[in-house]
Amino acid sequence: MATTPDTLIDFTDGAPVDGAEEPAWIHGARSLKQCADPEIQLHRSDEHTYILRQSKAITFEAPFIYLLFGNDRAILIDTGTSADRERFPLRRTVDELVAQWLRAHPRADYRLVVAHTHGHTDHRNGDPQFADRPETVVVGHDADSVRKFFGFGDEWPGKVVTFDLGGRVLELTGIPGHHPASVAVYDPWTGFLLTGDTVMPARLYAPDYPAFLDSLDRLVEFAAVRPVTRVLGCHIEMSRTPGREYPAGCRYQPEEVPLRLPVARLAEIRDAAHAADKPGVYRHDDYIIWNGGQRIGPVLGQAAKLIGFNLRKRFGARV
Ligand SMILES: [Zn+2]
Repeated sequence: MATTPDTLIDFTDGAPVDGAEEPAWIHGARSLKQCADPEIQLHRSDEHTYILRQSKAITFEAPFIYLLFGNDRAILIDTGTSADRERFPLRRTVDELVAQWLRAHPRADYRLVVAHTHGHTDHRNGDPQFADRPETVVVGHDADSVRKFFGFGDEWPGKVVTFDLGGRVLELTGIPGHHPASVAVYDPWTGFLLTGDTVMPARLYAPDYPAFLDSLDRLVEFAAVRPVTRVLGCHIEMSRTPGREYPAGCRYQPEEVPLRLPVARLAEIRDAAHAADKPGVYRHDDYIIWNGGQRIGPVLGQAAKLIGFNLRKRFGARV
């Protein structure tokens, strides 16, 4: 069936809708053998918006993934850690969600764009699952590909570009620092500001600290003039005990803080990041700033080994 005007969804009416409360997220188990978590947890935030979480039984990273539907195309933001369709059935899950959405909202030639918050492997290793998918574009994960695909041109990273899913017009801006190709994605339908691994209730690794500070400065300005309902990153690593993190490599996080951060926290995190002006680790209630990322990794890695942290794994994937 072709799209007709009366099947078009108005993504401006009532926006921002925010969406359903966060569910209790899957968070692993003491023993992996006893872990009953699904490979992928599906959370329907509203009928056009899904948040997925990859199981801790597959990867300690347990990243969050976002799927947003528009009138003409959907966008999958991040693909998790694995190309193995059996072990991590992301492609099948996304195909089912797209088919389900199209049954409710029939239209021809519906496309999928697969993009990334940034290029670290825990956010893009699932890309090959989509390589043979019809009507699908998989965006590259280096800064050059991101700049070209979204039209930043020479004005990367500060430019704000739009990406229209069909009446649902996302806005993106570059936020390098954690990774050279990091972007923030604002969705006016939900009011969600997706910040990848740059802002989240977790360890904020910033190998390029000046770029990280510049990105936070711009992100605060960006959010100040848009109705942001929640700031959503891609990991949870903090517990509900203020300042207490789950160590890197942890597969069981029973007392996680929520994924969502209120928008007011952005300015607070920016200020904390500016105050953290020497390489080191700066602990706050529900996030930890790592000024220097990789450079301070080896030093702290030695110390961490003594108390059983698995930093090598963490740095391999995230920094
Ligand atoms: Zn990550």
